[in-house]
Parts: sequence; C-alpha cells; structure tokens
Amino acid sequence: MTFVDGLRADLGEAGILTGHDAEPYLTGQRGLYTGEALAVVRPASVDETALVVRACASAGVAIVPQGGNTGMSGGAVPVTADPAGNTARPSVVLSMSRMNRIVSVDPDRWTITAEAGATIEAVQQAAAAAGRLFAPDWGARGTATVGGAIATNAGGNNVVRYGTMRDHVLGLEAVLADGRVWDGLRALRKDSSGYDLKQLFIGAEGTLGVVTRAVLRLHPATPHAQSALAAVSGLDGLMPLLELAEARCGGDVTAFELVPDVGLERACEKFGLARPLEARAEFYVLVRLSSTEPVSDRLGAFLDEASECGWVIDAAVAVTDEHEERLWTIRDELPAMRLWDQHEHGVKLDTAVPIDRFGPYHDEVRRIAAELAPDALTYGFGHVGDGNVHMYVLPTNDDQVEPFLAVRDELRERIEEATFAYGGTLSAEHGIGQLLRDRIRHQKPEIEWDLMQAVKHALDPQGIMNPHKTLPADPRQA
Ligand SMILES: Cc1cc2nc3c(=O)[nH]c(=O)nc-3n(C[C@H](O)[C@H](O)[C@H](O)COP(=O)(O)OP(=O)(O)OC[C@H]3O[C@@H](n4cnc5c(N)ncnc54)[C@H](O)[C@@H]3O)c2cc1C
Repeated sequence: MTFVDGLRADLGEAGILTGHDAEPYLTGQRGLYTGEALAVVRPASVDETALVVRACASAGVAIVPQGGNTGMSGGAVPVTADPAGNTARPSVVLSMSRMNRIVSVDPDRWTITAEAGATIEAVQQAAAAAGRLFAPDWGARGTATVGGAIATNAGGNNVVRYGTMRDHVLGLEAVLADGRVWDGLRALRKDSSGYDLKQLFIGAEGTLGVVTRAVLRLHPATPHAQSALAAVSGLDGLMPLLELAEARCGGDVTAFELVPDVGLERACEKFGLARPLEARAEFYVLVRLSSTEPVSDRLGAFLDEASECGWVIDAAVAVTDEHEERLWTIRDELPAMRLWDQHEHGVKLDTAVPIDRFGPYHDEVRRIAAELAPDALTYGFGHVGDGNVHMYVLPTNDDQVEPFLAVRDELRERIEEATFAYGGTLSAEHGIGQLLRDRIRHQKPEIEWDLMQAVKHALDPQGIMNPHKTLPADPRQA
C-alpha cells in the first residue's frame, strides 16, 4: 500500500485529494508559487490531524498546513527545492477546510472558540449574533481562516484600535511535529505561569506545528460606525491628525488608512465608482470611528478642528450605508494587482516603520525610485495608523516593463535597505513564507535567527513542518 493509500484508508475518500482535484491547493495567491505534493490531505478532526502528522513523521514526509490559501508569501504552497537547489523531500498539503466549525461562543467570557479552518467572516458573524465583536478584519475575510490568520499573525484594517491576531488569541490547540496534541485552549486574560507557548505558534507560519483550534477574544459590539475620507495637506500632517483623532474621539478610531490619489482615481475609473469628493490632494486618509454610542458629532468636530489646523483640506463623510460601502470598496481595490496589468513586474512590499518615521521613509522610497526608475509609479497605501503601508514601485504600461526589469533587483534591494535603516520590517502582516525567506535575514541580528532555529529544532527535530519557509537557511545545516 502506498503512503497516500494508507492515509485514504484512515481518512476516507473525502479526506484525500489528488490529481486535478488537488491543483487549486498547489498554487498560491497571485500565482507566484506553484508546488507539488503527494496529496492534499483533509482531516475532519483533531484526532485525524494527529494521525496524519504521525504518519508523515514516520515516513519522513513534509507537512504544509493550509487554510484559505490567501497568504501573500507562498507559505501554504510546498517548495520543490531546498535553498541549495536540491529536490525537496516529498510533502502533503494539510488543508484545514473540513475543520471549519465554530465550537462555542461564550459572551460571558468574551470569547469564541473555533476550529482552524473556520473563516474570519464566519467568526465575525457568530460573534455578532451573540452581540459581540470579533475585531480582526481584512479584504480576504470570506476565505482566510483562523489557523492561517494565527500562523501569519494577520493584521488588517482595525489594528490601530484592537491589535493583530496576537492580541486576540487567548489559547490554542496544536498538533506537534511528533503527532502529540497540545491542548492549550485556555480562556484566561491573565496568566503568568511560565513561557507563553501559544505565542510560538502565532506567526510561525506552520513551521512548528498545526494549529487545530483557538480561543479568540471578543470585544463589545459597535453598532455605531461611520467613516470619512479626508484629503490631507501632506504626509507631515498625518501623525498630528491621528493624535487629534485619538484625543477627540475617545479611543473610537478603528481604522486610519492611507489612500493615494493615484490609486483613488484609478479604482474609481476601473470599477465605475463615483469620486467620493471633489477636492484633489496627493493623499487621503480613510478614518473610521466605531462605538457603542453614535459617532457622527465627534467625527464632524474632529474633521472641523483638523481643517482649522490645516491638516485636512476637505472631507467626504459617509452619510448612508451605500456611501460607507463605496469608501471601503475603494480602499479594498487599492492593491496593485487590482489596478494595473503590469503589477507582477513591480516591487511590492508589505513594510512597516515606526509611525513617526513614515513620512521621511515614504520620501526616501520615492527618492530611490526616482533615481533608478523615473518612469515607474510609486505609491504606498494601507494601514498607516499602525505604520504598515504597502509600498509599490511599478511599471504601468507595457513599454515601461523592460527598462523597469533591468533595475528591479537593485531598486528592491535599495528600498529594503532603507526599510531596515528606518527601523522597519519587510513583513508587517503577510508573513515571510518563501517570498522573503532569503531577503529578511538582515532585518534582525544573527542571534535572533539562531534562537528561532533553536526553537525550530526543539519542536520539529526532523524538520518536517513546512520546511524551507520563514527561517533563513540554517548555517549549521549547510
Ligand atoms: C485581498 C486580500 C487582502 C488581504 N489583506 C490582508 C490584511 O489587510 N492583513 C493581513 O494580515 N493579511 C491580509 N491578506 C493576507 C491573508 O489573507 C492573511 O495572511 C491570512 O491570515 C491568511 O490566511 P489563510 O487561511 O488564507 O492562510 P494560508 O494562506 O492558507 O496560509 C498562510 C500561512 O499559514 C500557515 N497555516 C495555515 N493554516 C495553518 C494552521 N491551521 N496551522 C499552522 N499553520 C497554518 C500556512 O502554512 C502558511 O504558512 C490579504 C489577502 C488578500 C487575498
């Protein structure tokens, strides 16, 4: 009996996909990475997950956990070669798609417990039905899963108020690389009893074990929410504007997103949306307040004061649900892949810098781009309230592609060096995966990678959990 037939006998037909059926699981978001696997394995329970992991451990087969496969860094797709170019060991994709149940909603504890394959939207809806809020939110909510969000420490639009997934996981359960199940499904807000092991699995991108269930923190529902798109006088005014918003709106600032005019204009044109405001500026900020109480008066007063200070030129306040939705549709359409056909040739970075350094950092990226690729389009958009802005430099017509490709590597390296020099990160919320594994090394001191390798060796001595992802190559293995 082959290895896959053995798994099929244990999990049944529904638990194994091969051939054509497996293909969608073997190519990542944006089509950047395609891999090979013996099979896509779909356990339906924690016990079945442990059984699969034990079988893989004894056969030396690698395990690539996968949630919704919306990750941007190739983390959920098997590698075909190791960093030295040798053929990688055979692998299975371990899809959590059948483990998608909401286990319990516990409003009195302010928690929800969900299986790893439950979507973010399903968790949000279950929380809302109990009069609570599950705050993490982003464009891929309908497909991205709890397990993937934990494994990448996902962020999104609401981080400025509620934090990342790391701030929402109270407890988790994981299948370790040897097949043992660690039940850490605690629901404690405070617990000082030694190492906080759950944190190891948050942001580990499946390299330490398979997250199977999690206890997630809930917040009070915020039935009153309103957004405004404000044309701003320049990047220098952004941080005082955020400070003013926080001071005047009593902690109700849920989102503070940067929208560049070039993206706004293109999104409106491409998707047939009316421009939300007449005034033109190079940048806009999309601010959302949400609260248990009405927010309109505070939003209006904040915008008036910001205008008196000269930080805001004009603003469109959403007065209907439709208007609100349009502002957020524009925001969600800003990624380059939605707007420009040539996007795949561009330099696209998920950077964050300390928030007070964002303006000078953005100028520096533009200076580097103007020097090396003067015809290319440079823009940043996204979660500026927490310092995480997706920076792009791209060709926007076919004639620009060839000259752009001639300088692309140098351009990318110079921007990455600048990101490190500004105390920033190349991976603010999308993980490292395959994409950044060899580029992120200089972001941290060698001792930090060494400690991470020590943790990896302690939890996964055989190296079967999502190999050749996340950690730069271990010099000890060279
Ligand atoms: C339109 C769009 C918008 C996005 N916006 C944002 C955003 O604003 N903020 C943000 O943070 N991300 C964003 N993302 C990226 C993506 O949605 C997140 O990274 C998400 O957390 C990935 O979840 P997933 O279930 O799709 O994980 P996958 O892509 O399947 O996997 C991601 C990583 O997690 C690992 N993994 C998955 N499940 C498990 C598990 N159960 N146990 C252990 N490891 C596991 C995988 O091996 C892989 O390394 C966006 C993506 C898209 C397509």
